[in-house]
This record gives sequence, structure tokens and C-alpha cells, in this order.
Amino acid sequence: MATDPWSGRLDSFVPTYRPLPIEIVSGQGSVVTDADGRELLDLTAGIAVSSLGHRHPALMAALSEQANRIWHLSNVYANGPAAELADELCRLTFAERVYFSNSGAEANEAALKLARRYAHDRHGADKFEIVALHRAFHGRTLFTVTAGGKREYSDGFGPRPEGIVHVEPDDIDELRAAVGSRTCAVIMEPVLGEGGVVPLGAEYLRAAREVCNAHGALLIFDEVQTGVGRTGSLFAYQSFGVTPDVLTSAKGLGGGFPIGATLTTGEIGDVLARGTHGSTFGGNPLASSVARAVLAEVTRPELIDNVAKRHDQIVAGIADIAERTGVFAPARGMGLLLGVPLTPAYEGRSRDVLLAGLEVGVLVLAAGLDVVRLAPALTITEAETAEALARLEAAVRSLGGVGT
Ligand SMILES: *Cc1c(COP(=O)(O)O)cnc(C)c1O
Repeated sequence: MATDPWSGRLDSFVPTYRPLPIEIVSGQGSVVTDADGRELLDLTAGIAVSSLGHRHPALMAALSEQANRIWHLSNVYANGPAAELADELCRLTFAERVYFSNSGAEANEAALKLARRYAHDRHGADKFEIVALHRAFHGRTLFTVTAGGKREYSDGFGPRPEGIVHVEPDDIDELRAAVGSRTCAVIMEPVLGEGGVVPLGAEYLRAAREVCNAHGALLIFDEVQTGVGRTGSLFAYQSFGVTPDVLTSAKGLGGGFPIGATLTTGEIGDVLARGTHGSTFGGNPLASSVARAVLAEVTRPELIDNVAKRHDQIVAGIADIAERTGVFAPARGMGLLLGVPLTPAYEGRSRDVLLAGLEVGVLVLAAGLDVVRLAPALTITEAETAEALARLEAAVRSLGGVGT
């Protein structure tokens, strides 16, 4: 292993992260370059963020044009790019109202507060319970991390916000038993992302829709990771054919520029009356201009078609690597959000795969200790995908103990 370029240089950080030993200084499409000028293929897209790859010309143009006009106004003033982005999100989805923020956590925070306020205004103060899934991830504010399904993430930060219960993903009976007259919302990711890239069943999502209808609870889909073309449709709910009341988007929406959005209907969204919620940066002109350009690109049929083709190529490639090396179980996921579980002999070694990838020139992600996560740019080509898979095979072969 080469020496860590960050050694001694991150002492001024709180130690929340343990960055990998590489300094990436530039990127183009699905290729990144490190400080030594070495090129690596990127199957991470900045955790499903840079969905059009690095330095996409349309995003470069949108950002620099807006940078030459005005950067920031605050929400004391409305701005054209945000107004147009909101209209476009409504045109492309079930939504009739949009609230802009700067991250996934904030988009979910707004969704949960909206659900609380809607229930409060329509049904009274006793309807406040939120039903969420074990192993879910919704962000790191205290409310969203408590809604998330990993209790360790909120340990030591108490007291936790009250009124959140967790159920096992894909267990329809448990969900039906958990939702009742006190439930204001059910929140879930259509594909559990950080929780190992596990798609929920369409039947489960339909059951969630029904049980929410029966009890006047809002169905919130956290599409922060699954949205904006990632799973092969603009939003995953459109593939599943189950429409939520509230949908959150972030990550890929800005193609690398921070933005979050909470989408809902007019009837629900209008409870967030003037002064009830807000954000200084939310809907700023730079983020909104870039996101508009992202939407224009990801709704092109050729791009959606590429997602399907590269999905098939990666699933087949992983199956081949699995057969030859015994390191991987079959890939799961949707579109270009894929989880590759490690076989029992390699359990706990996802970070080793990431480190080995650096050595051979491919960036991959983990989702927990036992799953390698792949979330390449939606624009990745067939040749780049083939080369990245070859490098991934070389990486896992270097782990030691590999079958052949
Ligand atoms: C990444 C993620 C979040 C949190 O987004 P941040 O921008 O880090 O706040 C929330 N939900 C899901 C499903 C995510 O993948």
C-alpha cells in the first residue's frame, strides 16, 4: 500500500470520517485523477451524487452562467432558477409543491416536520407517531437519525425525539400492526441504500400505501439515493407504481452541487404556511440552475436506456467474478444502484475491497461491512464499465484466499 497522502494533514478535522488513502484532484466523466496523475475509474459518483459524471458540459455551462449572474439572494427574494426547477419537478412527478433545502437530511427533516404539522392541523396533537424501518438511513440531524434504523447512530445524543417506532423491512403484517390512528407518517427508502442496497418488494410498498390511506397517515418515500434516474426511472416510485404523499430528493439532484428537495401535494404542502419552516440557502440560484440542467439530462431516453444496459452488464459481470473468485454473492439493486454482498469467507471486508480497488485503479463504495456498493455515473460507457469490472476482479483477487 502506498503511503497515505492525508497522513498528518487532517488533524484539524473532528474525526468523524476515516478517508481512504488517496487524494483525488480532478475528474472527467467516470474517470478521476489523483495527485500523482494516476487515473482511476469511478464506480461511486460521490455516493450516487455526481450522476452525470464529473464536469458534465451541461452542468459546467449552467453553473458558470449562473455564477456570472448572481450567487445568492436568500428567500427574502424569489429567484427564477428555483421557480423553474420547482415547476419542472412538479411537471415530472406527482408533486404540486416543493420545498428546497441543501441536503438529504434537511429534505427528510422537512418531510417529517410536514407530516407532524399536517396531522396536527388536520387531526389534533395526538397523531404524531412516525413508523420507520430498521436499517433505514435518513440523514444525521437528530430527528432524521432517530428515524433511521441504526440505533448506534443516535446513541449518546439523547434525549431522542419522541414518537418514532421501527419495523422490519418487507414485513407487511408487522407494518399493518404498527400503523394506527396515532400514526402521522410512514417513511421508507424504496431501496434501502446505506442498509445494504436492498430493494423493498412492490407488494410491500403497495401495502404501505394502503395502510397509510386507512389511517390517514402520510407515506414518505426517501428517494435521496434512489432518485433522479439512479434506479432506471426518474424516481423509483414511478417504477414501483406506488405514489407517496411526500418524496425527498437530494444527492443526484444537484449532480455534485448541494441541494435537497421535499416534494408533496398542494393539500399537504400548504400546511407549511409562511414562517413555519425555512432555510437560508435552500433554493439558491446556483444549486437551482445546476439541478435544472441535471433534470434536463436525466430525462433523456438515451440516458435511462444506458442505466438499464449498464445494470445488466454489471450484474452479469459480477456473476462472472463471483463464479471465478468466490468473493461475491449475486448483485442486487435497481438500475445503477447495486449492492454486491461478500460471501461468508469475506464477511466484514468491504473496506478491504475499497482499499484493494485503489491499488488497481477503481473506486467502489461499501454499504456496511459486508456489501460492496456500486453507484457509477449514469453516463458510464460500456467500455468503462467493462474495464472497471476487470479492475474490480483484480482487486478482489488481491484480497488473499481467493478460490482460483
Ligand atoms: C445520503 C442519504 C440521506 C442523507 O443525505 P445528506 O445529504 O447526507 O444529508 C438521506 N437518505 C438517504 C436514503 C440517503 O441515501
